[in-house]
Amino acid sequence: MSKGFVEDDITREVRMRTDIVALISEYVRLRKTGKNYVGLCPFHEEKTASFTVDPDKQLFYCFGCGAGGNAFTFLMKREGLSFPEALEKLAQRAGVRLPSRSRYRGDESRRKENKRLLDALEFAQSKFRDMLYGSRGKDALKYLETRGLSREIIDKFGLGFAPDEWDFIASSAKRSGFHQGDFLKAGLLLERPSGGYYDRFRNRVTFPIYDSAGTLIGFGGRAIGDETPKYLNSPETPVFRKGRELYALSLAKPGIRRKDRVCVVEGYMDVIMSFQHGIDYTVAGMGTALSREQARALLLLTGEVYLVYDRDEAGKRATRRSIDVFREAGGRTRIVSLPGSKDPDVFLRTEGPGAYEKLLDEALPDIQFIYDEARRENAHLGMEGKIRVMEAMVPVLASLSSDFERSAYIEDFSRDLAVPTDSLNRDVETYRRKSKKARKYKDPQNRDTTGYDNQRQPNPASGSKRVDKTGGKKPTDIEVSVVRRKAEEGVIRCLIENPELLKKAMETLGEQDFADPVLRELFKILREGSPDTVADERIQAQVAELCLRFGDVSRDSAPRILDDCIRSMRRERLEELRETIALAERTKDQAALTQAILDYQRLLKQLKSTGDASDGSAL
Ligand SMILES: [Zn+2]
Repeated sequence: MSKGFVEDDITREVRMRTDIVALISEYVRLRKTGKNYVGLCPFHEEKTASFTVDPDKQLFYCFGCGAGGNAFTFLMKREGLSFPEALEKLAQRAGVRLPSRSRYRGDESRRKENKRLLDALEFAQSKFRDMLYGSRGKDALKYLETRGLSREIIDKFGLGFAPDEWDFIASSAKRSGFHQGDFLKAGLLLERPSGGYYDRFRNRVTFPIYDSAGTLIGFGGRAIGDETPKYLNSPETPVFRKGRELYALSLAKPGIRRKDRVCVVEGYMDVIMSFQHGIDYTVAGMGTALSREQARALLLLTGEVYLVYDRDEAGKRATRRSIDVFREAGGRTRIVSLPGSKDPDVFLRTEGPGAYEKLLDEALPDIQFIYDEARRENAHLGMEGKIRVMEAMVPVLASLSSDFERSAYIEDFSRDLAVPTDSLNRDVETYRRKSKKARKYKDPQNRDTTGYDNQRQPNPASGSKRVDKTGGKKPTDIEVSVVRRKAEEGVIRCLIENPELLKKAMETLGEQDFADPVLRELFKILREGSPDTVADERIQAQVAELCLRFGDVSRDSAPRILDDCIRSMRRERLEELRETIALAERTKDQAALTQAILDYQRLLKQLKSTGDASDGSAL
């Protein structure tokens, strides 16, 4: 763990030029309330916003799981980066140049390799682009134009062309002095059994794939001729993780935020067409089923998710899977059915964006979609069909956490099926009881298994901010009281917000006065400088908690609060020492007894000198 001070001026410079609200907004949709912003916590699953960002203090804190910190901590936690990596990323964003030989640099060899892979991808991208507009790209360009894409949109999405050659990229990379091994690792080349390399993408239109921050990390390729498969993606590489990325998310973020909704479509072409028609809040998966991580990333940006999949059987299966994934991630979806089995691409070209947005407004809630599908599939079965529909719906209904929603749907469906509400209700209740019991036994973490239960417990492990309070204490020591801990927190909070009080506090307080190790560390840091530039995550989370969990300390009341807290720390310490002395006498621990009496007398003297001693009569 990186700890302690780093080169302050650079860190501070980067921090000053970084707006934490803008940074976090790239991951979480934030809503302004008062002077702060709130949103769904990206570090635990929740349905009501308890994640708070304070623009004045440039700190975040989650009241649900206790995660907190500054811009660096956020990026470290969210992207799994080390402090040097987070600093580098933010510096880049803020346009601050880091000294080249700096101890900020993280895992140098990994960083260097990733950089080489990204360079390889950029190199290929420029080659593919050139090729599309050259003489050999004529057919590819014509194909895109027949599909109705404008030049502008082709450029916006960086489409290109990989010619029908075995070693177009392989040999141009070599000619330009690149190492072919990097191109292999970046997923651009494949190895020949006889040695050497050949191109992965051949005779295909290329779709560059960017991560959510806009870095090129891979490619998709669509065959121009009869090659199979029709669509081909880069494989997983150190820089490209399919379960994590969404196609066009970096481009769609502003639209998603503006409209507070997102459309999830199947194909890259559907995304591009949507953008061309102004539906610029559209993304797609990576040709595989959506993962919970992808669903979660979207839910953090908006609660309005529209699934616009094909209406063929494969599309319906994909819809059903995605409904489940979003439910598991704590959200819900609406299902858009484009009439006449059209895909978004075709629909937008023939009917236009107005008609498309109208369909979004009429989209079915996910539960209704599941019901309608079950109805349709069993329509020809008469009574038997009805029973099957009921059987299909019971687990879905049982998993709804809102009583109102559940009973409304039960009412609705039983009316439609012409069965008594009571009987459907009973079946759902029985199922709920049974599955609760089953969960209790099968799953100690109380994770739901149906995929429809929205009731989520914050994961206590993810936010374990409480530190081990027994660290370094003698066995005879008494547990630190809540009052003392609160008083210690109060002192530190006053000092963070009013550093001018430090001198005064240092006259009467030393770090040994703090029982909590993190607070003790913070006191030391405050004495030596400012906690802004400390990389330790525990320290940053503690600072954020102190600053955001409690209200502001006004400048006027700070000296009084500080005095009160210090006095309270003393009194509590005195009380603890009395208990320790009593315990030591009982256990005949002579060494502990002597030490405690000495401490007690010293403390009492201090209190008397400041006129604070309430009573010293206990000894
Ligand atoms: Zn949280």
